[in-house]
Amino acid sequence: MDKKTIDKIKSLAESGGCLGNSAEEIFARCFNAAEKTLGITPFDEQLAAALSLSEGRLVQMQTGEGKTLCAVFAACLEALNGGKVHILTFNDYLAQRDCEWMKPIYDEMGVSVGYIAEKTDRALRKELYNKQVLYITAKEAGFDYLRDFVCSDTAEMVFPEQLNMAIVDEADSILIDEARIPLVIAGDIAVNDDGSTAEVYKKIGDFDESDYDYDEESRNVFLTDAGADKAEAVFGQDMYSEEGAPLLAKVCACLKAKFILKEDKDYIVRDGRILLIDEFTGRTAEGRVFPGELQTAAEAKHGLKITSRGRIMGNIALQYFARLYSKIAGMTGTAESAAEEFSKLYALDIEIIPTHMPCRREDKPLELYYNGEEKRKAIVAAAAEAAEAQRPVLVGTESIEESESLAEELRGRGIDCVVLNAKNDTEEAGIIARAGERGAVTISTNMAGRGVDIKLGGEDCREKEFVTRAGGLLVLATSMRESSRITKQLRGRAGRQGDVGESRFFAALDDEIMVRLDLKSLVSGRHYPSERVSGRIEDKVLLKEAERVQRISEGNTYDERVNLMKYTMIGEKHREVTFRRRRALLDGSYNSEMWQQKAPKEYKRAAEKFGEQALREMQNRVLAALLNEFWCDYLDYTAYLREGIHLTQIAGRNPAEEYNIACEEYYQNAAAEIPDRMAEKLEEVLKCGDLSEYRVAAPTRTYTYLLNDMGEEFKAKPILLSVFSDEPEEKEEQNGREEKKGFFKSLFGKK
Ligand code: ADP
Ligand code: MG
Repeated sequence: MDKKTIDKIKSLAESGGCLGNSAEEIFARCFNAAEKTLGITPFDEQLAAALSLSEGRLVQMQTGEGKTLCAVFAACLEALNGGKVHILTFNDYLAQRDCEWMKPIYDEMGVSVGYIAEKTDRALRKELYNKQVLYITAKEAGFDYLRDFVCSDTAEMVFPEQLNMAIVDEADSILIDEARIPLVIAGDIAVNDDGSTAEVYKKIGDFDESDYDYDEESRNVFLTDAGADKAEAVFGQDMYSEEGAPLLAKVCACLKAKFILKEDKDYIVRDGRILLIDEFTGRTAEGRVFPGELQTAAEAKHGLKITSRGRIMGNIALQYFARLYSKIAGMTGTAESAAEEFSKLYALDIEIIPTHMPCRREDKPLELYYNGEEKRKAIVAAAAEAAEAQRPVLVGTESIEESESLAEELRGRGIDCVVLNAKNDTEEAGIIARAGERGAVTISTNMAGRGVDIKLGGEDCREKEFVTRAGGLLVLATSMRESSRITKQLRGRAGRQGDVGESRFFAALDDEIMVRLDLKSLVSGRHYPSERVSGRIEDKVLLKEAERVQRISEGNTYDERVNLMKYTMIGEKHREVTFRRRRALLDGSYNSEMWQQKAPKEYKRAAEKFGEQALREMQNRVLAALLNEFWCDYLDYTAYLREGIHLTQIAGRNPAEEYNIACEEYYQNAAAEIPDRMAEKLEEVLKCGDLSEYRVAAPTRTYTYLLNDMGEEFKAKPILLSVFSDEPEEKEEQNGREEKKGFFKSLFGKK
């Protein structure tokens, strides 16, 4: 902690001589504003945390230490120096609560502030994004970013073009735990099918296995010599001439649809549509189609006439969304154990702020049991004992099912309890806030009610004395978590601001994580019980190894995340360029000249017919719409590619490298086709009597969703996540985050 600066802030605050915009002066004004408006005198620790935030660091500060206020200092400093700040909250409830709670300070400071939640009207959003400080979840902000990508008019766009600073609350949640979850926007897009693929499909009716080869690795179908001869006879055209190329692509797609794609394995037919089945999850993937001609060929196979297709139009993983901000700061109760990840993936250094009062919570060592049944007995006994003494107890479970079954068991014993299931943030906040009441028994999943303070003796602290004498809040964690951070989060629920409290932490030899990471193999036989043990296991070696399982799990998930990035960075780069170009076309900062160059004669005619200026504007809009199509195709192709890319490993090659090369090639080739497609559009435009008759392609309906219910998929394979850069070098240097660049370079080795 920088004691000198903190003292200076406080003396400036006292003297009132603080009108400038330096950190010390603004902090001094905030200090006074907090006292005046909320009656809170900020602690030195909070000032230290605020200084770290404004320097773009990740602050580790225990639960209940007042992080909400720290963010206000840093946000005001940035705002009063001309920047805009998004405070990314854990959920909608906290966005509203923190904004309304802190608003008096912002008002006093002359800084405009607002919040956006899921229910916030789109019409209001533009104005809210203009506020100097905005409270919003990363999810809502990310969805707005994606929605802008499918808008056909800048007037409908709400999201700011430049993102300044993000202060991420509960940072480990967004930047690590949920980092890989993609936000997705999908839309129903009209399909203009001229029926030619269906025609081709009919004509290949008597082709057979001898007519094609299938390459498992590239997933391409090729004609054999016999097949090529047959095709030439059937279609009366040389398949390998330049004019034959589009036909050849159709023929190969039809052969593939006919012989390789299997109904109910690769796809299902539902409601007259082909829905893809995800290879790993076995579920149908909403808004995904086969790439290129293959989808139309599959439709032809089933005689389907399609007028529109649901397609994924854009996606972005939370971690890449966070990286869009030129400056990131964060705060959380638990950062330390993920220090390497924060530093490597986000160039965030951690600052550990001591608690204002010494922590009086007792963290009991791991309690290990032979199996789930023994463990459950111990947990129920611990909860019952606390309930008996009217000591508040909070049980942290791993899943909603576990919560429900535990509650049932407790109720069976006559113990009243409340179950939290992470469905309604607001209701949940209310329940968590009361979890410290005398006699309260609360059962919740890991994350439920995160960010809400548990006050001893109830929200008004009426029975604080009783509860304190009973030992304060007791936290029971029912299993070993994937990472020690999650365990610490749970423990941190008790013992806030110097309260007494206790945390106990249970595991069983047959817990999923113990089995998966094979605890048994980590110890020599004599330490591992060969038959059922009742009650706690006391073997020190086994206990130590059981704790190590968590660290192994952390290491694995970290490696997975790094590995995943090798696949996702390329899509980020491509998306950034595509999004930026599209936006520039619509706001007029960039003008397309494709029509002039590709079809000068038609352009001249059209310009005479419709007027040059109107035609130029139309050209930009048409190209913007085409970029949407282009991007849909890209997403389909890369998703498809990822499913097959592991096959390259068989051939002894590096799948990540192969994947990147294939994506780049696809992107370049598809981009090269755009001028031709634009020329086709100009012909359509020319057929119109008036420009206003021409309908620029747009989705009839769009919908956004999170892919988080597909968690397993991300473990099984890399999924395309979606951010920015034509000039990556330059941008990153501007941000002063060079390490980042170095890291991504090293990911791809020499390339
Ligand atoms: P965190 O986000 O760190 O868990 P909160 O910002 O939710 O903590 O604050 C926890 C509680 O501490 C709130 O009730 C808040 O009013 C109180 N608080 C914050 N700062 C101070 C302070 N300087 N003095 C007294 N109470 C404070
Ligand atoms: Mg908080």
